[in-house]
Amino acid sequence: MKITAQKGTRDILPGEIYKWQKAGRTFADVCHMYGYEEIRIPTFEDTNLFQRGVGDTTDVVQKEMYTFEDKGGRSITLRPEGTAGVVRSYIENGMASLPMPVRLFYDITAFRYEKMQKGRYREFHQFGLESFGSEGPEIDAEIISVVNVFFKRMGLNKISLHINSIGCPECRKAYNELLKEHFRPHLDTLCEDCRNRFERNPMRIIDCKVDAEKDIIKNAPRQIDHLCDPCREHFELLKKRLDNMSIPYVVDPNIVRGLDYYTRTVFEFVSENVGTQGTICGGGRYDGLVESLGGAPTPGIGFAMGVERFLLEAEAQGVDLGSPNKVKIFFVSMSDSARDKISKLCYELRLAGIGCEQDLMGRAFRAQMKYAGKSGIPYMAVIGDDELASGEIKVKCMEDGNETTVKIEDLAAFLLEK
Ligand code: ATP
Ligand code: MG
Repeated sequence: MKITAQKGTRDILPGEIYKWQKAGRTFADVCHMYGYEEIRIPTFEDTNLFQRGVGDTTDVVQKEMYTFEDKGGRSITLRPEGTAGVVRSYIENGMASLPMPVRLFYDITAFRYEKMQKGRYREFHQFGLESFGSEGPEIDAEIISVVNVFFKRMGLNKISLHINSIGCPECRKAYNELLKEHFRPHLDTLCEDCRNRFERNPMRIIDCKVDAEKDIIKNAPRQIDHLCDPCREHFELLKKRLDNMSIPYVVDPNIVRGLDYYTRTVFEFVSENVGTQGTICGGGRYDGLVESLGGAPTPGIGFAMGVERFLLEAEAQGVDLGSPNKVKIFFVSMSDSARDKISKLCYELRLAGIGCEQDLMGRAFRAQMKYAGKSGIPYMAVIGDDELASGEIKVKCMEDGNETTVKIEDLAAFLLEK
């Protein structure tokens, strides 16, 4: 029986890993510039965490979670996203006593049982961050700018930012009543999920993938038109901050976000390229979440970016994502005594931080030359008895064919400069 990778999972092979590494390093650098520190959370958690933290009216919890019973009879779930785990950790580790805002970022895999499509997998990767303690809107704008700086540093220019406000529990109450009035006469035209959402969380209906094209959804009242005064002011100040940084955006009253815990600011970075999976990054404010998971009432805001979708978009836009990792120099040996000398030389060069390779397959001279030519390693040097006697080697630049004579003891300095 041939065993293959599971549906919706993928190997990230050496030929493409450099793109992931470049994106990951850039994201970490940008987060550090803003004062965020990395957190690593477990891959699996108590199922209750996601039921409460993501919300049991969401598609994620209702249909997409990898939930199983472990050998100890516990209900375990592979994390479908990062926020709930970070919030649990924030509470459990007493981070509320740290200076505010507490700023954390992460680079994780996440798991959702979904139909495979381009940009939609069952195991996927997210870059994200969370910030606790500040009500904003300054920090809301700052967090949006993190994504912008990341995109710009990666060289991604064409992407649109959509923002919206979905209010607070106060204005949501009145709005939910409006929504119910709107949908009540048409309940029988909606899907079964939407009929369930109607009682428990009518705003979710607007986010329904099945009913999305129906007029009754398109014409539904929007929260943004029914904000209370503090929420409206919060949103106005957010827009002012974004204007102040010259970050372009469109107000998109249709953004509700898939997860239950959002309040006020919600945003998405959207592309036209990735087919229907156009949302590369989504985020928002979740002022009720920490409390609902057992912490003291604490405002919070964050985002998560789909790394697969980001890379698809970057490639579609022709962004330079770097090149495969290569060592710097390959040594071709002309004799057994040279092989020994090369081993020692390689070891010393690596101690000095220089990547190098020698033949490990017992190849003859010609085959070593051929390997060096094909390998993509930028420099090559042949070492034989003459070189060992004179202590000088010719370092060849593979790109232009130029050779430079270098004393073996100067080799590290020479290569470091390259
Ligand atoms: P969608 O509406 O596309 O299903 P979502 O609202 O479920 O997205 P979030 O929970 O906000 O997505 O996750 C944040 C980001 O993670 C998304 O914007 C997307 O880029 C990425 N993402 C979500 N689900 C997947 C998946 N199954 N495969 C790859 N990336 C994903
Ligand atoms: Mg989804």
